[in-house]
Amino acid sequence: MANREAIMRIAEANAKRTVTLPDGTRVPALGQGTWNIGDKPGSRQSEIAALRLGVELGMTLIDTAEMYGEGESERLVGEAIAGMRDRVFLVSKVYPHNSGRDRIAASCEASLKRLGTDRLDLYLLHWRGRVPLDEVAEGMERLKEQGKILRWGVSNFDVSDMRELFETPKGAGCALNQVLYHLGSRGIEYDLLPWQRERRLPTMAYCPLAQAGSLRKGLIDNETVRDIAADRNITPFQLLLAWCIRGGDVIAIPKASSENHVWANAEAGALMLTEEELRRLDSAFPPPTRKLPLDIV
Ligand code: NDP
Repeated sequence: MANREAIMRIAEANAKRTVTLPDGTRVPALGQGTWNIGDKPGSRQSEIAALRLGVELGMTLIDTAEMYGEGESERLVGEAIAGMRDRVFLVSKVYPHNSGRDRIAASCEASLKRLGTDRLDLYLLHWRGRVPLDEVAEGMERLKEQGKILRWGVSNFDVSDMRELFETPKGAGCALNQVLYHLGSRGIEYDLLPWQRERRLPTMAYCPLAQAGSLRKGLIDNETVRDIAADRNITPFQLLLAWCIRGGDVIAIPKASSENHVWANAEAGALMLTEEELRRLDSAFPPPTRKLPLDIV
């Protein structure tokens, strides 16, 4: 019973912490990533349970890709959301080499089949490849007309790529850009984030936990991070998530394969950092003062 009450409390907090997409749809600021999920048959049931718990806790946005485990991740997500499809905002991604007019429809269809659904809420170009952007945008818009996807976006696009995309006839239909963003990698704050903010185009932050800190040495054990987390009785990882979604237009998609981690991540949706805490984090990890190359994994 206590557990049920706690689930309701966390889910309510996450229902209030949303990001608005260009079409007015509100999605939770905290979603769930799935890279490497579905790779190990022995972990399958616990990963499914973790994803389902995440949905119960209000992290109803699930991000996957045809690339992840070459379809295995989508299959696992399909199994996890069976019976709860309508509660989930489902995101998948197409490989660049499948994003041309001859292949995108088949790729999307294969993703739908693996996910056990008839539509994606959001379909992303995983990264920019050789297919011209006007062709990608046209293909995405066609899938939208056919009802296979409800909206589309891009991933790993820097500001110059975004400008180019928006100059194509259908490019302005792009709903968001998914890029690497965490406290230890703030390059997008210099130009990409402001460019998107001006157009009310949300950002989806991947690796919001810096892959459990491994992407940035000294992040998790930084003194300021440790002190703020200790003062608030939270973990450094929860602090990283609260920091990531502080602006109201960034969606963070931490990946967790255990229920404990999912629970901890979902609790971060209720955390609001103070101006003072943000200033201290700025001193420890200063925002960029010049253009930096887009960080990718
Ligand atoms: P994350 O930054 O989400 O870190 C994941 C790691 O953090 C895992 O080792 C996980 O462990 C651990 N973790 C999760 N929650 C906690 C917690 N509460 N406390 C301690 N450790 C925790 O890295 P990802 O690379 O997975 O990025 C997130 C998602 O973004 C991906 O899963 C994918 O969906 C997307 N992505 C998109 C990319 C793109 O090119 N568009 C590129 C990379 C990622 P455990 O698994 O044991 O729970």
